[in-house]
Amino acid sequence: MTTPIEPIIIGLGGNIGSEVAITARFQRVRDALAELGELRAAPLYRSAPIGPAQDPYLNSALWLRVDLEPVALLAVMQELEHLLGRDRDREVRWGPRLIDLDLLVWGQRVIRTPELVVPHPHLAERRFALAPLVDLVGEMVIPGIGPARAALARVADQPVEQIAQRW
Ligand code: ATP
Ligand code: CA
Ligand code: CA
Repeated sequence: MTTPIEPIIIGLGGNIGSEVAITARFQRVRDALAELGELRAAPLYRSAPIGPAQDPYLNSALWLRVDLEPVALLAVMQELEHLLGRDRDREVRWGPRLIDLDLLVWGQRVIRTPELVVPHPHLAERRFALAPLVDLVGEMVIPGIGPARAALARVADQPVEQIAQRW
């Protein structure tokens, strides 16, 4: 018997360059990951930065089903970040970045290894991550967090606006 493939949510962020350029990077990621399996994209959001003063971010999320192990998908995501020009050695923590791909949720799995923690450790605190996730799977119950919609309601005061339905 085969194990069912669990739905995965990946969060996207970026704040270097024009919004057109950031969106083009998101499209490259979406199109590359669509090669691996079934994929749906959430709307596009603009959010106020956390951490040091910097430009606003664009954010979105992808729902996908791929027959890969979590660490293998994380490696693909990091390779895509690298291909799009991200250089972690030159970054400030939570500072500006070309592209950031976070593995937010992997079905009902809980993963805690040195290189990968799922659900993403800051998911419950971040409207820019929860809003596109709820657009993708409104009824999601996140391990350790609970109903995604309720989590989103708790961070509703954070400045995040939807700027496009499709991208
Ligand atoms: P934050 O984790 O607060 O969103 P960040 O995205 O800026 O911060 P990065 O510099 O992109 O952090 O990643 C740091 C490390 O986080 C990566 O090397 C990766 O191994 C690890 N990591 C742990 N859990 C995850 C996850 N769920 N998704 C992506 N990376 C993760
Ligand atoms: Ca991040
Ligand atoms: Ca990251």
